[in-house]
Amino acid sequence: MDAPLDAVAAVDLKRVSEVKLREDERYAVAHPRSRALIERGMRTMPAGVPMTWMTFLWDHPPMFIDGADGARFQDVDGNEYVDFSLGITAASGGHAYPAVVEAACARIARGFNFTLPTEDSVVASEELARRFGLPYWQYSLSSTQANTDVIRIARVLTGRERVLMFEGKYQGHLAELLAVEGDAGPVPEYAGISEHDIARSVIVDWNDLDAVARVLAGGDIAIAIAEPLLTNSGLVLPEAGFHDGLRRLTREAGVLLLIDETQTAPMGYGGMTRRYGLEPDFLVLGKSIAGGIPIGAYGMRQAACDLLAADHPYEVTGEAVDEPATGGTLWGNALSMAALRAALEHLWTPATHERMEGLAGELADGIRATFKRHGRAWDVYHVGNRAGYRFCARQPRNNRDAGAFDLPAVRHLQRVYLANRGVWDFGWWAGPAVSAQTSASDVEAYLRAFGEFADEVLQ
Ligand code: PMP
Repeated sequence: MDAPLDAVAAVDLKRVSEVKLREDERYAVAHPRSRALIERGMRTMPAGVPMTWMTFLWDHPPMFIDGADGARFQDVDGNEYVDFSLGITAASGGHAYPAVVEAACARIARGFNFTLPTEDSVVASEELARRFGLPYWQYSLSSTQANTDVIRIARVLTGRERVLMFEGKYQGHLAELLAVEGDAGPVPEYAGISEHDIARSVIVDWNDLDAVARVLAGGDIAIAIAEPLLTNSGLVLPEAGFHDGLRRLTREAGVLLLIDETQTAPMGYGGMTRRYGLEPDFLVLGKSIAGGIPIGAYGMRQAACDLLAADHPYEVTGEAVDEPATGGTLWGNALSMAALRAALEHLWTPATHERMEGLAGELADGIRATFKRHGRAWDVYHVGNRAGYRFCARQPRNNRDAGAFDLPAVRHLQRVYLANRGVWDFGWWAGPAVSAQTSASDVEAYLRAFGEFADEVLQ
């Protein structure tokens, strides 16, 4: 653990806090209307916002949005930002992608709540099957809901209860997914989640196949859930052989494998599942896959399809039934399906992914060059449309490693510093993301602001 000390020694934290005060003040001066709306909003909404993440994700007050177009959005104070945060990747297609807007508006104008299917669902499912390799699909309104259904289906298929996850994951809002590893096993991650809720959750370190094998030896795991790479502590990559090992071990133990591509799907055509050649039993998509219109999707194989397609007469008898608990009133609605089809046909093409990956490469090269200019040998990563860095020379192996290498005070300053220069960076926990509508000059704007930040803080 030498690197964190290196990092601290390599950044003047006193200077960081001085510049932070100045930049916070500048931010406050630039957002008077947003501040007034937060204060007004506080009379009817906790923290003044419709969902408290909107304020707690940032170390500065949130801004209220007026509009957006392509890679840029405007706030109610008339400031414009190049967006590298993209709604935690939900806007990876960029804002208001024309073909999605057209399809969604046409669908809205002709109605979209029927609890009956439209042709778009057939076309979109054929396309997802072709790209992601899983033959059958179902839809929800979020990835949390998709993961919820998959876990229940896996329990019915395996007759087992427990769920294996990796430390550093975020897989959604379902109680049993909100566990972190404590000193003696998993503990609730938040207030309101009980020990009971997470009694069937098991957490192991990313890249630790020995730990996976030990847990699977218990014979009581229904499903293992993994992202292709960890996305919530910067990007933490799988080591060579990790995914192959995970697949082999789960197969041998009769454990189903879910790959959650909620965040990673924009990284490449067919997601990282296609790039890494993964062979999951279930695959979950969400956030950006329908161009930002709310959706969750899960792909599955024959056994799960047979289970869901079995004839379960729907009668309200008040008695327990043997079908898995899945679905929701608004799930698979015609608007989600129209947007998904349009996004798959026009937005998420191989050419789009290639462009995004090239621009993210330019971001990574520019960040690397900035560090070189300042004599810092810090690791810069680039995967698909994402780039970022760590305050140490090597990639971390797992989430704990990643946390030990971080300097949140510097990240918080970087965010507000870039915001004050018209660049809306990703959350403090990860590097910038390129959208389908980001241009080379947007990337230059990022690197200019980042260079200015580095000149002040890393001198
Ligand atoms: N899985 C992953 C990998 C995610 O990153 C997230 C959200 N950050 C989710 C699931 C849950 O998505 P949602 O909040 O849309 O339900």
